[in-house]
Amino acid sequence: MAKSYIFSKRYINNLFKDSSARSLASRLKRKVTKLPPRVPGGSSIADIALTKRFRLTPLNEAERELLADPQTLDLKESYQKNIENFIGTVKVPVGLAGPLRVNGLHAQGDYYVPLATSEAALVASYHRGSLLISEAGGCSSILLSEGVSRAPGFIFNNLSEVGLFVKWCVENLETFKEEAHKTTNHGRMQDMKVNVDGNHVYLIFEYKTGDASGQNMVTFATEAVVTYIVANAPIKPVHYFIEANLSGDKKASTQSFHSVRGKKVTAEVVLPKELVEKYLHTTPELMVKYWSISAIGGVLSGCIGTQGHYANGLAALYLACGQDVACVAESAIGITRLELTTEGHLYACVTLPNIMVGTVGGGTKLPSQQACLKILGFSGSGHAAAFAEVCAGLILAGELSIQGAICAHHFSRAHQKLARPTHGNEGV
Ligand code: NAP
Repeated sequence: MAKSYIFSKRYINNLFKDSSARSLASRLKRKVTKLPPRVPGGSSIADIALTKRFRLTPLNEAERELLADPQTLDLKESYQKNIENFIGTVKVPVGLAGPLRVNGLHAQGDYYVPLATSEAALVASYHRGSLLISEAGGCSSILLSEGVSRAPGFIFNNLSEVGLFVKWCVENLETFKEEAHKTTNHGRMQDMKVNVDGNHVYLIFEYKTGDASGQNMVTFATEAVVTYIVANAPIKPVHYFIEANLSGDKKASTQSFHSVRGKKVTAEVVLPKELVEKYLHTTPELMVKYWSISAIGGVLSGCIGTQGHYANGLAALYLACGQDVACVAESAIGITRLELTTEGHLYACVTLPNIMVGTVGGGTKLPSQQACLKILGFSGSGHAAAFAEVCAGLILAGELSIQGAICAHHFSRAHQKLARPTHGNEGV
């Protein structure tokens, strides 16, 4: 991104403030000296492997225990398939928000939602929004569609090869499905999209992944399909790659915004104005006015969709429940909308097209993550759709709470009170 020359000037002045051009060049120069020892051990969790790894760190015995505490060491086998070069666990505080009443297609009931974060005021905010929604009778939440994709890429010599290749692929979709389904009992290929760009072909394979978030599942299934394609296609690609970056994996993209990555969910609630006043200390009218300036602000900033802080709730929920937190990159996009009803109440809705959650696989079996899923009643098979609907309800709670705080001019005060202990944080 281009910067004004004034910023560049300041930056350059700073850069050379304490060092000459020569010493700076020497700092930044490639250094081909002997490297310190590598971190040993790969996926070994043996005591000796941990000891060797810790020897590379400046931590003393007591400090090592902050990571490798007795309970972590007792349970270390359970981490083995989720981490390499293991040295322990990081403890992130977990708070409970709720109850959050969700009237969904799959989720039905009052949920206590575990949120892992080190950000003060976050749990308080989602908690407040959850209570507000629940007292209003709960939010409706609906899973609209599902799909996780992998997008292998193929390079050919010219367009006529591309044409023959694509013709063959389109004619062989059923065989591709059979190859994919040999690798999984729960993943099902739904669709194949084709994108041609000169001599490049992208095949976008879209799957349903059962109760798993499914990134590994679709990778293994697509690998089998690509292997079949390369062995059997009448025209061989010059090069091919299992993923050519058109799946939207772990990045916010307009493509995923317009379709789905993971689970697309929408949630709505109608809040009587008395409840808005009671919980948010503001009025539905002001909430709608704030929403309109913040929605336009979001558009002006260039964000995909328009929303307040989806990433806060999603990151905390994903972390607590053993989801891949990096998927917040794609999950934290969508649309929040507030309206005034004819009775003067507040209508609010959120739509998130890219919720990436699973109740099996990934990190869901880790000990404390499993406990958090149990709090929700979502551990194991049969719960991923309900989990996604609760995610949307939680995000709606967070949107209402933050917008209310800003309308009531409490936004800064809440953070002061909760994040700065010297200012007191009693009586939340
Ligand atoms: P996974 O743990 O690799 O696979 C899920 C497993 O659960 C499969 O063995 C599946 O069996 C089984 N399963 C049992 N009951 C199931 C049910 N009801 N529904 C669905 N599956 C069921 O997890 P994943 O969700 O595929 O992958 C998630 C992980 O991938 C995350 O940890 C994420 O960090 C990581 N990831 C991978 C990539 C990548 O490209 N490889 C990219 C990003 C993230 P079947 O296979 O027989 O169906």
